[in-house]
Amino acid sequence: MKCEKCGAEIEEDEVFEFRGMKVCEDCYFDLMNPPRTCDPWASYAAQKEAERKGQDILADLSDEQKKLLDLIRNRGRVKKEEAANALGVPEDEAERIFTTLHHMDLLKGQQEGNVIYWTSMH
Ligand SMILES: [Zn+2]
Repeated sequence: MKCEKCGAEIEEDEVFEFRGMKVCEDCYFDLMNPPRTCDPWASYAAQKEAERKGQDILADLSDEQKKLLDLIRNRGRVKKEEAANALGVPEDEAERIFTTLHHMDLLKGQQEGNVIYWTSMH
């Protein structure tokens, strides 16, 4: 018989069923794990998670990312303008560095009243 998705010829005992469709093995796993192109951070995080087992994630950081991480680990928490001053970069640049580290599960934001602090995740 033929795979209902890609049309490849498949043996009766190699048929997989997905929501009523009879498909080949390749198509079955494609359907089970659709590529998530809409969320690059999800795949980035998954990739990092896999790498973390074998290597230190900190080795991948840029100098500025390490500086921000060190700063926050030394002080406990910082405001955006403090971080920007300490790193010698504009505030939007500091925010960009923070966002990257946030997506890597290293830093998080913390709100107190109207003030946002950046602090370490661990
Ligand atoms: Zn197929």
